[in-house]
Amino acid sequence: MTNTNKAIHTHIPGFPRIGAQRELKFALEKNWRGELSDAELETVGRELRARHWALQRDAGLDFVTAGDFAFYDQVANHIQLLGCEPARYGFSAEQSQLDRYFTMARGRSGDAAPAECGHGCTHDHAHGATGLHAAAALEMTKWFDTNYHYLVPEFTPETSFALSCERLFEEVAEAQALGHAVKAALIGPLTFLWLGKARGAEGFDRLSLLDKLLPIYSQVLERLKAQGVQWVQIDEPILGLDLPSAWRNAFENTYWQLNQAGVPLLLATYFSPLEENLSLACRLPVGGLHVDGIRAPHELTSIADWLPVHKVLSVGIVDGRNIWRTDLDAALAILAPIVDKRAGKLWLSSSCSLLHVPFTLAAETALGNEIRSWLAFATEKLDELYVLKRAVQGEYDAGTTEALAVSRAAIASRRASPRVHQDAVRTRLQALPDDADQRRSGFAQRQAEQRARFKLPSFPTTTIGSFPQTQAIRSARASFKRGELSVAEYETRMREEIAYAVQQQEALGLDVLVHGEAERNDMVEYFGEQLDGFVFTQLGWVQSYGSRCVKPPIIYGDVSRPKAMTVDWTVHAQSLTGKPMKGMLTGPITILQWSFVRDDQPRARTALQIALAIRDEVADLEQAGIGIIQIDEPAVREGLPLRRSRWDEYLNWATRAFRVSASAVADGTQIHTHMCYAEFNDILPQIAAMDADVITIETSRSDMELLNGFGQFRYPNEIGPGVYDIHSPRVPAQAEMVRLLQKASAVIPPANLWVNPDCGLKTRGWAETETALRNMVAAAKQLRAIY
Ligand code: GLN
Ligand code: ZN
Repeated sequence: MTNTNKAIHTHIPGFPRIGAQRELKFALEKNWRGELSDAELETVGRELRARHWALQRDAGLDFVTAGDFAFYDQVANHIQLLGCEPARYGFSAEQSQLDRYFTMARGRSGDAAPAECGHGCTHDHAHGATGLHAAAALEMTKWFDTNYHYLVPEFTPETSFALSCERLFEEVAEAQALGHAVKAALIGPLTFLWLGKARGAEGFDRLSLLDKLLPIYSQVLERLKAQGVQWVQIDEPILGLDLPSAWRNAFENTYWQLNQAGVPLLLATYFSPLEENLSLACRLPVGGLHVDGIRAPHELTSIADWLPVHKVLSVGIVDGRNIWRTDLDAALAILAPIVDKRAGKLWLSSSCSLLHVPFTLAAETALGNEIRSWLAFATEKLDELYVLKRAVQGEYDAGTTEALAVSRAAIASRRASPRVHQDAVRTRLQALPDDADQRRSGFAQRQAEQRARFKLPSFPTTTIGSFPQTQAIRSARASFKRGELSVAEYETRMREEIAYAVQQQEALGLDVLVHGEAERNDMVEYFGEQLDGFVFTQLGWVQSYGSRCVKPPIIYGDVSRPKAMTVDWTVHAQSLTGKPMKGMLTGPITILQWSFVRDDQPRARTALQIALAIRDEVADLEQAGIGIIQIDEPAVREGLPLRRSRWDEYLNWATRAFRVSASAVADGTQIHTHMCYAEFNDILPQIAAMDADVITIETSRSDMELLNGFGQFRYPNEIGPGVYDIHSPRVPAQAEMVRLLQKASAVIPPANLWVNPDCGLKTRGWAETETALRNMVAAAKQLRAIY
């Protein structure tokens, strides 16, 4: 018999929607190509939802979650639900809801409507021929500190709201018709407004739209209540951010109003501790509060004390952001002091939506049993919740006991495994001198030596690393992976591609060349595959945005470099030219950020281990005669913690890791770094502290505006502000690049300027690339004549 005081409910804030085999991705792409009708796409969506709800129920969850499904993005779903599609699209009544949805997501017209995928890779948006005027897609940006990207709502003083989409209610009805107990999930009104951006009118505050928005939320809640949903989960993750007081103050009244609808509300927070918002979150007039027990376990006791006893406390005790099996004993120990305090009102959950982890381990046949036993993807996490529930309820039947034993054994094996712990790595880290992150001399001395060595013209030209990844390159790699091409054949092909890229660059007259990265599939995977401590899944896809998924490597153990990773290719490339060949590496923070990282040691230590591996590669390149080495770090900014109070700590270890990777070289060796974005104004001192001899950044799309911060800060080292927007197939004219460089010269000493594109050229074609780079070289020459 279950003691009712201990009755536990389980649920999840959300489930991956892309499907075990990425069914949604393929269906979407077919629909966009016109090969799958809208009705057929809807059927795929319905089937996926049905399957995912069944998994939730079969795993023993007390509610399934409805409303977490989206054909592209959950924020975009809310834009339609709340009837605030931006007026600039000029949508007509005849256009279907789905058509309008994909137009907002992907843009419309023959012009490029570029967007940043944020994973360092670049893409152009596709466009439907609608006969309507051109309209850029909604902007995309990162969902809090995840690698998921949402579509940014646009707000103007004229924005109005109206309940405008039946999808949510239909999905709830669908789940009910399948016999499920349903919890509906919504993004809360304050988080929704916060995530949007104000457009148009100067000084317009999007919070001023709240009064217009709340009645629509109330209508939504009334509808859900009428449908008989058990609970409505309403996500307000912004409670974990540093909020301006006007936003904090808006919560009480907002939830007082929403509570009038009379449906039980579970206010969900995640990703970050509540800190100064803790007591606010606890006293809001809602039925329950969900908190992230993984990111903020230290707050659980005070929440259990502060939250009135009649309210439900949902503890996210299974990590929704990482792929490790839960240490169930540790989880039970954390829960123990809370269980009695929350008699009958404790729920267990994943910390956040499982959207951020891969679907299932079941499909992974190549991982090896040991490592596989350490992992839990979305479906395995559902099972963990069930075991935890049984254990907390004191139901130690055979199944629970067995599951706990299996879990315990896996945790013990991971803790003790020699594959995880390498003494040599540990010893090296401990023995690392304090000044291992310092170049031998200051920048002025290095700059003088490098100038004497390379004798580059002023406004030297270079590129960011990759050249077009042509169909030929990709099919060669695919054949190689299928075993149809031998190692030798594959290497020959790649060497030819490298030779071609070098030849083109010589013909164009670039000053510092690159080998073009033909041999690389992905800038992180390429290194992860060659480093110890990494494994790769076959189907561990995670949605990045829309139909795009990424398959992050898993860093499971101490990282080390068995042998040189890039030296042969780079030396080959250098042998083909008298110009300096720039070595090309991915930096430790970017490798860390774009992987699933071990949770048994601080991220800072893992970063340092990767840094040492990269440091060895840098030293080997130098040894092999490569005088210029670029260490890409596009992910430094996105690693910033959500709370400002934690920025310094992160930036300290992150910039140190970069410097450790870069500092083993002589003064005459020139270190470059590249970051895709240039929105660094708030962290410029730390960017400068990375002390790269040259930094290249993305500035062309902001018309060089983003460079102003560097100028005002008097950024001390050399800079290559991008003059060519590689996200678009458009070829920039020489005059346009001259104008950008003149703008740059007004804020940065011209002697410190480099000339380069915004980012790598792997997504571009050769023809456009050649023309654009020819114009770029000509622009540099024109600048040399002026300054
Ligand atoms: N060197 C990489 C390239 O050119 C850099 C990519 C990136 O910044 N994301 O492709
Ligand atoms: Zn870039």
